[in-house]
Amino acid sequence: MSNEQSPYCVALEQLRLAVEKLNLEHGIHAMLKVPKRSLTVSIAIRMDNGETGVFTGCRVQHMDARGPFKGGIRYHPNVTLDEVTALSMWMTWKCSVMDIPYGGAKGGICCNPKEMSKGELERLTRRYTSMIFDIIGPYRDVPAPDVYTDAQTMAWIMDTYSQIKGYSVPECVTGKPISVGGSEGRAEATSLGAVICAEEAAKKLGVKIKGATVAVQGYGNVGWNAAKIAYDLGCKIVAVSDSKGGISNPNGLNPYKIYEHKTRTGSVVGFKDAKEVSNEEILETKCDILIPAALENAITKDNADKIKAKIVSEGANGPTTPEADKILFEKKILLIPDILANAGGVTVSYYEWVQNLEREHWPLEEVNQKLETKMVKAFNDVYTLAQKEKCEMRTAALMLGVGRVAEAIKTLGLWP
Ligand code: NAD
Repeated sequence: MSNEQSPYCVALEQLRLAVEKLNLEHGIHAMLKVPKRSLTVSIAIRMDNGETGVFTGCRVQHMDARGPFKGGIRYHPNVTLDEVTALSMWMTWKCSVMDIPYGGAKGGICCNPKEMSKGELERLTRRYTSMIFDIIGPYRDVPAPDVYTDAQTMAWIMDTYSQIKGYSVPECVTGKPISVGGSEGRAEATSLGAVICAEEAAKKLGVKIKGATVAVQGYGNVGWNAAKIAYDLGCKIVAVSDSKGGISNPNGLNPYKIYEHKTRTGSVVGFKDAKEVSNEEILETKCDILIPAALENAITKDNADKIKAKIVSEGANGPTTPEADKILFEKKILLIPDILANAGGVTVSYYEWVQNLEREHWPLEEVNQKLETKMVKAFNDVYTLAQKEKCEMRTAALMLGVGRVAEAIKTLGLWP
């Protein structure tokens, strides 16, 4: 990915734009620019070979004016405090756009999970949890999965937190396995939300969803589920990729078979009946809907001009830079920003938390129905504002998200 821009710089520029549009006072802008709390920890664990491994981790809590902090935990060799801070800010806007009672946070550990054993990852997760224990909790800050963390990781966090407390606290974390209080539909929620948004956008543009062509960058939790859901809706998946490369076939690919192939071989690359293409080409594929579902800075000023999709639904966080945003807007590509498009995950996380607090378990249909209603409303709120303001969907979503948070800060006042 070329022309990388610091995610925090991108987040600050987006905030500046929203503050300007909303005409917010300087003090509010100053409060929103920096996280409320940021904790960096050095995590020492026993490696399988008997040596001591030391990893840097952090938890950043951006703003909790609308409710407890909420946000995922990412394990990746490129995790930095800068990136996690940006992600924590995006979580604040995301929860606000969806109108769910949470603030924004994010956590991360700089490590390479692909080179670590399950035992090492468990020890890393448990020790990290114990080190951020004081600042997390069901009414303080509720973590969830993100890149290279999953339901198992969340179960280890829940168990560590519960063991320290002395009783079971399922509501301290979301994205857990169903067997320990996870919600039906959580694993697919982010992708379902991104596809629901794409469907709504398709209606606005007069694109028929049945037969619509779809390209997906990234084939992890979000990417694979988005490809599967779109395929089940009747879309034609024409290209997918992962960190090792991409594959395409204009006649359509079967995402279930690609998933089997990836599970067997570790990558989508090498799938039969498909042409191998580079990661850059995936983004530039001729299609109706493009779903970037990997990492930040995928669409930049260097390739924005080459994007041929009619709709971009950001499954990933921060895949498009501000300069690229402008180019896509000029090209009349309807971009559904991350803080709306991938908010299905945190929305069902919220449903999981509510179910845990009430010791309830809702059926899948109920969860998905609630999610659909919430996504469609949020999409239309943002779309209507964007039409009114004649601006990008991202600016409209930020105006909605930042505006609600600013209102909460003003209403709460400053103590003392
Ligand atoms: P994941 O670890 O399950 O998958 C990431 C995928 O991206 C993998 O297939 C990896 O191979 C691929 N990838 C990495 N670098 C790539 C590159 N340069 N080109 C193409 N593919 C590449 O992670 P995930 O949970 O699916 O998260 C993906 C994105 O979605 C992240 O930006 C994350 O913050 C965001 N997100 C995730 C959730 C969630 O519920 N999991 C919710 C909201 C947002």
